[in-house]
Amino acid sequence: MQNIYVHIPFCQKLCSYCTFSKIISSDEKIYKKYIEALKKEFTLRLQDGAKIKTLYFGGGTPSILSLEIMKDLFSFLYKKYDFSGCVEICIECHPSTLSEEKVKGYQEIGITRLSIGVQTFLKKFETFLSRPGDDIFRALEVVKKHFHGDVSLDMIFGYPNQTEKDAQEDLEKLLSYDFSHVSYYALDYKKNSLIEKQEASRLPFEKVQRFYNNIFSAMKNQGWNQYEIYNFSKQNKKSLHNLAFWKGEDYMGFGLSSVSCVGREVCENTKNIMHYIEGKYSDDIYTMNNADYTELMIQRFFRLREGVSMAVLKDLLSENNFMQLYENIKTIPSWVEEKDNTFVLTEEGVMNYDEVMGVIVL
Ligand code: SF4
Repeated sequence: MQNIYVHIPFCQKLCSYCTFSKIISSDEKIYKKYIEALKKEFTLRLQDGAKIKTLYFGGGTPSILSLEIMKDLFSFLYKKYDFSGCVEICIECHPSTLSEEKVKGYQEIGITRLSIGVQTFLKKFETFLSRPGDDIFRALEVVKKHFHGDVSLDMIFGYPNQTEKDAQEDLEKLLSYDFSHVSYYALDYKKNSLIEKQEASRLPFEKVQRFYNNIFSAMKNQGWNQYEIYNFSKQNKKSLHNLAFWKGEDYMGFGLSSVSCVGREVCENTKNIMHYIEGKYSDDIYTMNNADYTELMIQRFFRLREGVSMAVLKDLLSENNFMQLYENIKTIPSWVEEKDNTFVLTEEGVMNYDEVMGVIVL
């Protein structure tokens, strides 16, 4: 069974915090050429009849594609592959691209989950984000009315000058929608983003931590299950594609700049759109060495709030390395605790995930 990621790199506008692989374009002709190249990549790399477990369209902005293009792509995929055991088909959406017709169309073509990039409901942060937000409320109403699958909202906190009242207002608006999944991230001033050089506007760490505490404890008090460090679900509606990733399952990536990871074999696709359209898909294929592989798996496993069982770690690591990891973990009892032969991040550990990894990764 395959977990498949499909990258759709096109966006309407550049968001200030973005470091994803994207191309700002509204040219349908380029979209169509890209989809033809994508189909060829599937034909080349994934054998007919392959069983699909999860299918995830990420971006970029996958919902920028017209319904006609999506229908064409789905009819290709459905003809070629076996979706009888597929548990999730998810598409990332920008609110401004969601019309009633498109949402109904998604339902019809078998998409089971929408992941909508809201980020904030407050107009005053839209300019900073470079995201026009008039469409958020309209789009969410359309989704509520016409989409009967699962819906996830992506949110960000920690904007420059954001107050506790702002954070609270965003949270209240978010919780007023009866959707089943939320991803809530702290704003990051990543390298190569437009805000990289605006460090001065970054909120103090203590304030971001306070927001984190307030938001995350309010969500938990309202019955949300924080199953991953930044992800919450209700009624057990977790992101199945991402869960497979965090649990260390193989996945294949298709499209510009996507990555595949099958066992220790990694295939990185080109980031050059012209090369991709010409069919020069992969840039780099290599086998991870032991140290890189175990580091990657440990980083993924520890993101899950259910923790990591010692049995899983013993399978992954040599006896010496397991003992070393165990010793490292014992030095940070306020961040990682041991429960029923399982290592679990504490609340404080969740907030300091990067630091935890710095201590325990071998
Ligand atoms: S954050 Fe998403 S929508 Fe914004 S530019 Fe980046 S990929 Fe596009």
